[in-house]
Amino acid sequence: MANRESTVYLDNNATTRVAPEVIEAMMPFFGDRYGNPSSIYRFGGTVRRHIERAREQVAALIGASPGEIVFTSCGSEGDNMALKGFFQERGERTRIVTTAVEHPAVRNTARFLSGRGAKITELSVDNNGMLSGGVFDSIDISRDTLTSIMWANNETGVVFPIRELAGAVKARGGLFHTDAVQAAGKTVIDVKKVPVDMLAFSGHKLHAPKGVGAAYFRAGTPVKAILHGGHQEGGVRAGTENVPYIVGLGRACELAAQRISEENTRVRTLRDRLEKALLEKCAGAKLNGHPTERLPNTTNVSFENIEGEAILLHLDEAGIAASSGSACTTGSLEPSHVMTAMGIPYNYAHSSIRFSFSVYSTDEDVDRVIAVMPDIVEKLRRLSPFVDQVF
Ligand code: PLP
Repeated sequence: MANRESTVYLDNNATTRVAPEVIEAMMPFFGDRYGNPSSIYRFGGTVRRHIERAREQVAALIGASPGEIVFTSCGSEGDNMALKGFFQERGERTRIVTTAVEHPAVRNTARFLSGRGAKITELSVDNNGMLSGGVFDSIDISRDTLTSIMWANNETGVVFPIRELAGAVKARGGLFHTDAVQAAGKTVIDVKKVPVDMLAFSGHKLHAPKGVGAAYFRAGTPVKAILHGGHQEGGVRAGTENVPYIVGLGRACELAAQRISEENTRVRTLRDRLEKALLEKCAGAKLNGHPTERLPNTTNVSFENIEGEAILLHLDEAGIAASSGSACTTGSLEPSHVMTAMGIPYNYAHSSIRFSFSVYSTDEDVDRVIAVMPDIVEKLRRLSPFVDQVF
């Protein structure tokens, strides 16, 4: 077993390490600066100023005004706020248009609301994981419609044309929410140029800790609280603020804004080098997702007729952390809903492996994966129960 120090961590779409600069920014708020930001005396007021500074840093990452940012506990909470908040406003008139490849944070929330009377439409994607052109042509969109489409897909990294999609929805009077959990910090987001009404993202995908996130609500967007209590966060999200984590999220957003160009140059080059080597050196390898419209840090490759989980176990033995697109459901390996929605054939879909990079990834990480993958694939293919089957 490889020792933990030398782990090659290529699962940054699952979570990221907390940046040392973020930890440093957070520490005082676990120590001397423990005041309640709502308190009237200076000991609390100083803390409040740090929250407002963090709000500015978060807003700056996406081109928003600080007053349009609400701190949350995670990306899932932001997605829930958007969908359930809209449902609270519109009740059974609610219509939600979403895609077949959304994260469960949106998909399962929409399904929950469907059980309460909302009408749900799931848009299908093509083989590249893209929404087909004219996708809204046959869909009824009105002021009672909330369209929720992710900015970028977590499994494939495919980036949707959010500016055009949101523009089309807004032109017909609907509201638009985007789950930007995977996009924030990896690609430029500017809500001044992209007409989304609501957007959610998460701290732990951009080098802040787990347990904090942010949601954007364009000024004037009708939204109702789903968590009631005190007056915090403008009454939209009650609960005493998680000060150290909010301060950490602010610092992480500031760093992310500085590092977006590195994500799109050095990190992209690492990703491309690994992808090219896997496709060239591993028999039966095939890329999943649009070849160009993708986050710079993500590659998703299938290895025909091999189980993804088996590959992951072998990678783990070699000290490499990645992720697979199949999940164990009732004892059998089922391809993910994303691979299924893309129409990837079963013998590829259940063997998809995602490698996701960060600014902490190195050339050595890529070398180590390239050094072991062809042998792993060859070995597992020899053992594969699928090889003689016809699909
Ligand atoms: N949306 C997407 C696209 C994600 O990838 C994730 C997490 O993987 C989430 C939402 C949920 O975020 P969180 O873990 O912060 O709740």
